[in-house]
Amino acid sequence: MSKPGFERVALIGIGLIGSSLARRLRRDGLAAEIIACDRGRETLDKVRTLALADRVTDDPADAVQGADLVVIATPISAYAEIGRRMAVGLAQGAIVTDVGSVKQAAIRDLQASLPAGVHLVPGHPVTGTEHSGPEAGFAELFDDRWCILTPLPDGDAVALQRVTQLWQAAGMRVIAMDADHHDKVLAITSHLPHLIAYTIVGTATGLEETLKSEVIKFSAGGFRDFTRIAASDPVMWRDIFLNNREAVLEMLQRFTEDLTALQRAIRWGEGDKLEDLFTRTRAIRRSIIEAKQA
Ligand code: NAP
Repeated sequence: MSKPGFERVALIGIGLIGSSLARRLRRDGLAAEIIACDRGRETLDKVRTLALADRVTDDPADAVQGADLVVIATPISAYAEIGRRMAVGLAQGAIVTDVGSVKQAAIRDLQASLPAGVHLVPGHPVTGTEHSGPEAGFAELFDDRWCILTPLPDGDAVALQRVTQLWQAAGMRVIAMDADHHDKVLAITSHLPHLIAYTIVGTATGLEETLKSEVIKFSAGGFRDFTRIAASDPVMWRDIFLNNREAVLEMLQRFTEDLTALQRAIRWGEGDKLEDLFTRTRAIRRSIIEAKQA
């Protein structure tokens, strides 16, 4: 596998994903120079202390000056403004990519402000944890996970190849698909499960005090696993649901119908239906383990 070999990489947003990429670029010598851009002074101080970049700035236009690769790794609601602010600094031929969890909205918010001659290659490394911020990142975050790229129909082929090489060098398996398809797939594999986790934990915290303390005390397997997911960043997840509204609502509708069917099965004592479903879902878990995505 050939190294992508970027001269200057500008990372806009240096939280969990941005800082993990910075660590990986540094560790494996994938970029000659790294510029980190973030809006918060505190975050930038942490980036300095952790020595994640060669230079830090809070100005997107300054960050992208002379960069051959720009990676946007902020919550999606910041994209439109970042796109506008960095546009004046972008060099001809620069590649702009992102890591956002919703792709149609990312394209909508970035494409309009990018000057001609700058190549947009939207992407989504499908990996992560429930932690946020530059201290939460680690170089191995991307190992053996999938990165989905959603190239534009008239996008630049060389830019696509270089972003593919970037994520491969970071340890990922890379696949390309339409942004619309990406958003549907992720609605069921990631967005709906988070919504369910937020709901269950929300329901539990809405219980009366005595019951609530028992929930925390006896939070074995099931509930505890949901609390891990429901501890994910509130702003990032607000943005995901608002920006992937249609696909999430469609999956939620299907889920609600299936839940009602299960409710009926429990009410009427239809054990065979329950056992049949649980056997099928157990097989899915096995295939995820076999695919080394557990
Ligand atoms: P994070 O740890 O919260 O980091 C986001 C960073 O963006 C923070 O450092 C934040 O700065 C900065 N930021 C926010 N608004 C900004 C602005 N207007 N200008 C400059 N910087 C700004 O989040 P993350 O988990 O890395 O997620 C970043 C992106 O990756 C999101 O779009 C998310 O959808 C995507 N993603 C996340 C995961 C995951 O599991 N976490 C997985 C795949 C993709 P301050 O802290 O200074 O406010």
